[in-house]
Amino acid sequence: MSDDPEQWSPCPPGELSNLQQSLQNDAKLRARRNFVLAAGAVALAGGGLVTFTQLSSDVSAENITCREALELKSEYQAGTLKLASKRKLIEAHLAHCRRCRIAYDQTA
Ligand SMILES: [Zn+2]
Repeated sequence: MSDDPEQWSPCPPGELSNLQQSLQNDAKLRARRNFVLAAGAVALAGGGLVTFTQLSSDVSAENITCREALELKSEYQAGTLKLASKRKLIEAHLAHCRRCRIAYDQTA
């Protein structure tokens, strides 16, 4: 047994066995792609939850809360909401918040 480091190549995996495994790896890659798709779907579902959480709490001045959206509902629907920026905030909120969209639809 020699401890001479020269006997060991820096990259242990052999080229030949890599070539032989490449065909098998194709099948593995395909399986992995399916896994990535599934993971993407999970991430989308998780993203929806994150969006919902953010809308439920007042995180930034750019997003109005559900409470604000509902408070402005009568003004918005009566057309007395003069500030276009506020109308845009409501529309942006309704685009993301199903709960408020339903509330707006019910009295539209
Ligand atoms: Zn809302």
